[in-house]
Amino acid sequence: MGANDYDIAVVGAGVAGLNAAITAARHGARTIVIDMLGAGGQVINVDRIDNFPGPAEGMSGFELGPMLQMQADEAGVEFALDTIDTISKTQGGFRIAGADLDLTAATVIVAAGSAKRTLGIPGEAEFEGRGVSHCASCDGPLMRGKEACIVGGGDSAFDEALALAPHASRVTIIHRGPRLKASAALQARAREASNIEIRLETVVEAIRGENGVTALAVRDLSTGQTSEIPCHGVFIYVGLEPNTAFLGETVALAADGRIVVDLDMQTSVPGIFAAGDVRARSVAHLAASAGDGVTAAISAIRYLAAEDIDEPLKHHASAR
Ligand SMILES: Cc1cc2nc3c(=O)[nH]c(=O)nc-3n(C[C@H](O)[C@H](O)[C@H](O)COP(=O)(O)OP(=O)(O)OC[C@H]3O[C@@H](n4cnc5c(N)ncnc54)[C@H](O)[C@@H]3O)c2cc1C
Repeated sequence: MGANDYDIAVVGAGVAGLNAAITAARHGARTIVIDMLGAGGQVINVDRIDNFPGPAEGMSGFELGPMLQMQADEAGVEFALDTIDTISKTQGGFRIAGADLDLTAATVIVAAGSAKRTLGIPGEAEFEGRGVSHCASCDGPLMRGKEACIVGGGDSAFDEALALAPHASRVTIIHRGPRLKASAALQARAREASNIEIRLETVVEAIRGENGVTALAVRDLSTGQTSEIPCHGVFIYVGLEPNTAFLGETVALAADGRIVVDLDMQTSVPGIFAAGDVRARSVAHLAASAGDGVTAAISAIRYLAAEDIDEPLKHHASAR
């Protein structure tokens, strides 16, 4: 046993963090994964994932998360539920502290992913959970026979519009730009649905209602005209923010707030690695995040051996 509680502490149990932990544990590292919510990450409520290597018929996020957690369990990974607030340098590694946890590890892999951006408009906070949602697959059945609006024009917005369409009487996708960002395949599926309508160059200025949402106040950017779209549920997908606020100035961040890494997923601080959506220039795909996790874990294992931090790991350094 080394002087630290763990060889590798992974912050975040999304696809990047779980793959990092599985790889690290299989290489013999004493590994813990800490997540504030549980295993699975941001994809946990997604109905259908088509592009993750595996079954041809795809799978849901609520199948993928537990599957990876089970694999991690079998590899000997420890789990803890907490929100990590700080990572600080110690003499022989790092101290990782949260609301309840306070532990040390020789290396850290930050796989904290991203969180959904908000619109910052009147009514958004007021109606959160009462018509304002970020999970169509969770709240879709509540929209049966009702009008729903989706704000955003990327893959997530279209994924969720398609999840809502079988329930809602009408789904209006509202996008502020002149062109959609969603993949051609998702756009084609949305255009085939008879009850999905797309409004481009339109911004949402306020969410209106009383006990729940009843309408969106919108402005048409091409004409400047304002109007209201009746709607009982609004689902917001306007991009993601990296979960790096808790790191403060611990590691160097890029202009967009993501963690700067090299090809080994090494951050500006030797011994701290980053993987997945949270790292700069991530393509924000599940398969890429899984790959990042594996790279970060192998780099951490090599770092441990080179630094001679944990003697028992030495013989694993060249393992694959
Ligand atoms: C609606 C939607 C649909 C998507 N569909 C697809 C798809 O079909 N195919 C695809 O390839 N990609 C898809 N994506 C993108 C994909 O979800 C991400 O690329 C992937 O989840 C990134 O994985 P990650 O492990 O890096 O981060 P995340 O999945 O974001 O996981 C990060 C984890 O870290 C935890 N965490 C964050 N901060 C802390 C902290 N301080 N302390 C403790 N825990 C913390 C979070 O709770 C979370 O569990 C979709 C995304 C969304 C939002």
